[in-house]
Amino acid sequence: LIKLSNLTVKFTQGRFNKRIIYALNNVNLTVERGETVAIIGESGAGKTTLARVLVALEKPTQGEYLYKGKNVWRDRSTRKLIRREVQYIYQDPISALNPSKTIGESLSYPIKKHLKLKGDKLREKIEELLRAVGLDPSLAERYPSQLSGGQLQRVNIARAISINPKVVIADEPVTMLDASYRVGVIDLLANLKKKFDITLILITHDLAIAKYLNYKIEGVRGVVIYGGRIVEEGRINDIISAPLHPYTKYLVNSYIDINSDGKSKIEIREELSTTNVFSPNGCPFSNKCPYVMDKCTKTFPNFSVDRDRKVACYLYGE
Ligand code: SF4
Repeated sequence: LIKLSNLTVKFTQGRFNKRIIYALNNVNLTVERGETVAIIGESGAGKTTLARVLVALEKPTQGEYLYKGKNVWRDRSTRKLIRREVQYIYQDPISALNPSKTIGESLSYPIKKHLKLKGDKLREKIEELLRAVGLDPSLAERYPSQLSGGQLQRVNIARAISINPKVVIADEPVTMLDASYRVGVIDLLANLKKKFDITLILITHDLAIAKYLNYKIEGVRGVVIYGGRIVEEGRINDIISAPLHPYTKYLVNSYIDINSDGKSKIEIREELSTTNVFSPNGCPFSNKCPYVMDKCTKTFPNFSVDRDRKVACYLYGE
């Protein structure tokens, strides 16, 4: 369904001392129809740029994005198709909605535009959507300021599924919610994914959220991203139980199981170096990695592949 090949997004930062930032650097990723993929990494890793590329809001500097086999940036009709078939759930449920419009008005816009429904049919569709996300249909008359964060995120999810998308990209969908709402929103995404056979891409910095999603939908594929590069891929359970890449090991060391007593699963090692300077050609973790070798700073390693597990690190494969 989705194929990214050698995809790079570069930005120039600073007016006088110009610096090139690689938000994404030679990313290769395929997503099959019906799959659930968790893109995992810390803030600044490139996750949101990747999401923006997938919904065709960000044009890559280099490389190709194929959707259903068609080159998105060479084919305008494919970009139009993406606007309808690939829906984005934003991290901040409040700013994603217009405060001066009722919930019903916000939901009706994409339905009128894409499904051409109006009158009673439109009202019924909005009620059906609100019920599908566990909300009372009477909330359609309310304004965003009258709803809780958890309810607003459910409204955003309702809007995302309102036009029968093929793909839903949920970008840190629970990060800004109180802990009490988080599990409910992930449960909802998992149930809707199964009910409507949606391809779900979850973007998160939190391994516990990815693991919980995998508990609701088996076979979630994890993609670990760092410094704009994909560094490891595999089943979420394998990544958590036996991380390979040194960065993934660091992430797993810091992860707190959602079902545990709130303590870290493994003792957190001492903080890694905070310098972010690394060569775009080398391994992005080379300035922090305890195992760094000379070649790591010069050339990014090829992926070592073992069945459905992939890792880009010189400690493996050679
Ligand atoms: Fe560390 Fe080198 Fe592996 Fe990068 S490639 S994670 S620097 S050992």
